[in-house]
Amino acid sequence: MNTNKKIPTPEEIEKEFQEFVQQKYGGSVRLINATASEATPEAQEEDEGPEPKKTFDLKFDLKPKEIKQYLDRYVIKQDDAKKALAIAVCDHYNHVRECHEDPTAADADYSKQNIVMLGPTGVGKTYLIRHIAKLIGVPFVKADATRFSETGYVGANVDDLIRELVTQAEDNLELAQYGIIYLDEADKIATPPNIIGRDVSGRGVQIGLLKLMEETEVDLRAGNDVASQMRAAMEFQKSGKVDKEVINTRHILFIISGAFTGMADIIKKRMHQSKIGFNAEITSQTDETAQYFEDVTPKDFIDFGFEPEFIGRLPVHVVCTELGVDDLFHILKHSEGSIICQYENAFRAYGITALFSDSGLQRIAEKAIEQKTGARALMTVCEKVLRNYKFELPSTGVEEFVVTADVVDDPDAELKRIIEDTDYNRNSVKCEQIRRYETQFHAEHQLFIQFDDEATALICERSIADGQTVQQVCDQLLESYQHGLNLIKQNTGQSTFTFPKSVLENPDQVLEEWIRESYTTKG
Ligand code: ADP
Repeated sequence: MNTNKKIPTPEEIEKEFQEFVQQKYGGSVRLINATASEATPEAQEEDEGPEPKKTFDLKFDLKPKEIKQYLDRYVIKQDDAKKALAIAVCDHYNHVRECHEDPTAADADYSKQNIVMLGPTGVGKTYLIRHIAKLIGVPFVKADATRFSETGYVGANVDDLIRELVTQAEDNLELAQYGIIYLDEADKIATPPNIIGRDVSGRGVQIGLLKLMEETEVDLRAGNDVASQMRAAMEFQKSGKVDKEVINTRHILFIISGAFTGMADIIKKRMHQSKIGFNAEITSQTDETAQYFEDVTPKDFIDFGFEPEFIGRLPVHVVCTELGVDDLFHILKHSEGSIICQYENAFRAYGITALFSDSGLQRIAEKAIEQKTGARALMTVCEKVLRNYKFELPSTGVEEFVVTADVVDDPDAELKRIIEDTDYNRNSVKCEQIRRYETQFHAEHQLFIQFDDEATALICERSIADGQTVQQVCDQLLESYQHGLNLIKQNTGQSTFTFPKSVLENPDQVLEEWIRESYTTKG
């Protein structure tokens, strides 16, 4: 395929399409200009009436806290960003609802809460907006700004975003007018004044976007969209007229985002020049960038290479910060929609239970952080570690296995052991079940318990010898412990208990001793 082939203009496509229709159908099919809306009198008589238009009743009644709480379920960290977004989104959709309920109430001076998001890759910028759109029930379109700056048709392509919104809204034009457009890598359309000749189209894209962000009507039948031309031709064939379909962009929320590399230096320089102290204590390079971002002003964006009018239409600035190892661990372990569920489901489809141990998750997070692509790297690491497991295990008798730190460090050697050494795999599964029992005990009784290595090994042994589950062994063992440990907690305040082997050998005697000691300590 010749990828260098010149892209035809909309007019050239239209002409070619005209010729194709003429050749194929002769005079029996007429192709009209898709944007025309006049109808012939005969056709009007035959008109069966337009298809009923889909409508949408915007019932937005969320409060900023509710949006933040919803986002907390899925997105780890980024608290300030969640708050700022929740406020901006509520302001925007409250205003939209008021205009929807009473169009005469539209306030000409209202400035839309379009948003700029700053932050490194893979930290949840898109993820936040996707979830907001889902919560509100409006369509969401994401595009990379580079897609516009690298092609010739700046204007047409920018309008394409609106058409994609309509597709996302399943052709419900009213709903599409309340959608969200998210433009990633927006820093790439900046045109720094000191770089001569760089990408004039960047400025063109900004101007194209500016038009959309203010208020304009976008024709849904793009000249270079053969499908919509075809639809127009068929509609005309049927009814003799074509309705001009347009979308007004007044209520569409625009969000642009990027890493904005170099912006921190611009802010720093400005602050230094104006001698405004930067008081916050900076602990690392990444903290530094995020903290400067918090103080970004429209002038910094202009110095970065944005047109003043363009940045003037983006009044809300939201900063997302880098994620650390603990955050990545938290994402895996606690976020709703964690990729771990995806892997568990994939193995469950073959009747295999995949258990991810905390130590395994920790190693995945540590490996992912090295890639410097935020949470995106979690998927890459898991894919690499578990690819052969997905391939091999379904064809073996293995029904359960644990993703331990060793599995993450040396997946192939561990896979071989899991398949070949039944005892090794069974013990590793039981150990993980014991760890989960400890977590469950804490959730139920607010007491931290931990079996030491010898006690863990003994529970595994008993469970295998007696044909009982780990849960059964532990439940029997700790029958009287819940009450006893609470008594100790009352006496001494102690809430963390490590169980040695003796707890398994003489549970009652050990507990009695512990209780007695607690009275002495208390006394
Ligand atoms: P970006 O900041 O580059 O827009 P994304 O939001 O697309 O990054 O993140 C990529 C993926 O990583 C998301 O789909 C999500 O699964 C995960 N992710 C990123 N950040 C977070 C976070 N803070 N909490 C939970 N998951 C996250």
